[in-house]
Amino acid sequence: MAEVRTPSTNPSSTGERQLQVEFPEAPLTHKIVMLGIVFLPFISLFVAMATLWQYGMVGWLNLGLFLSGWAITGAGITIGFHRMLTHRSFETYPWVRMFWTAMGCLSIEGSPVTWCAVHRRHHELSDQHGDPHSPHLHGNGLGAMLQGLWYAHTGWLFTGYWTSPRVQRYVPDLVADRWLMAVDRLYYLWVVVSLGLPTLIGYLATGTVEGALLALLWGGFVRIFVTHHVTWSINSICHVFGQREYDSGDESRNNVFCGFLAFGEGWHNNHHAFPTSARHGLRWWQFDTSWVIIRAMELVGLAWNVKLPDERMLAAKRLVPLAQESGAR
Ligand SMILES: [Zn+2]
Ligand SMILES: [Zn+2]
Repeated sequence: MAEVRTPSTNPSSTGERQLQVEFPEAPLTHKIVMLGIVFLPFISLFVAMATLWQYGMVGWLNLGLFLSGWAITGAGITIGFHRMLTHRSFETYPWVRMFWTAMGCLSIEGSPVTWCAVHRRHHELSDQHGDPHSPHLHGNGLGAMLQGLWYAHTGWLFTGYWTSPRVQRYVPDLVADRWLMAVDRLYYLWVVVSLGLPTLIGYLATGTVEGALLALLWGGFVRIFVTHHVTWSINSICHVFGQREYDSGDESRNNVFCGFLAFGEGWHNNHHAFPTSARHGLRWWQFDTSWVIIRAMELVGLAWNVKLPDERMLAAKRLVPLAQESGAR
């Protein structure tokens, strides 16, 4: 595999960062495919605006397909790929595991094994050289910060970090799970389902090709655009903008905006400080939709061994003692 070639310093939250780190190269074919995955949903947004102009309203059917699709596939990423598979923050039955993994596949963010390998590497090297998507490895100054934000948001998808995820090193437990691998091997089928299901529903509901295409647009491409950019915002925005409540050893931030939009994933500093916690919004006002669902699963017996940090662990990493704050939980 192509590997990082340039030696680097070891940046810290306060220290100097290396200028212009080189990133591993990906094959040209990957870059072309990725271009389509990034820009087709982007272009669809303009098409959607044009249809709004033409039809006046998106319509309840398409709005419902968009919102329900975003909710279920977004939860597939946050609950399935992230908290369940990558961090093993709770245990569940194999069929529940397969369900959430399949829902994550429908978001078209890559196969679960690749996604989890990349994310474990991110935690291992967060904001240091070798982190697949840190916004902090491009040097200092405004230009470097903007370049870093772009890289962390989307640019890194075109590098060898994505094409060579080193699965045997980072996710040997997932590779050994035959049920999970069964879902993983069907990844391209999930991609077809992700686009085909809303199209089919649109056709059955309206009986017209026009209705089917509008459903594909809103329930497929626009939904994928929103899910992608919300997820990618955690890599970019949540490592630059927001508050640090805990000593996580990196630049991760709690960002209220992303906290709500990304179903709780925006409480990213909390998450980096306590990666295995099933709950990312650690205060009562840090709303965490994914945690609400995991807690509900626990209450009905669909999740167990749910991991949470205790008070001693929280206190050990807290940057500002609770007694000095107002509004402490
Ligand atoms: Zn992070
Ligand atoms: Zn994580």
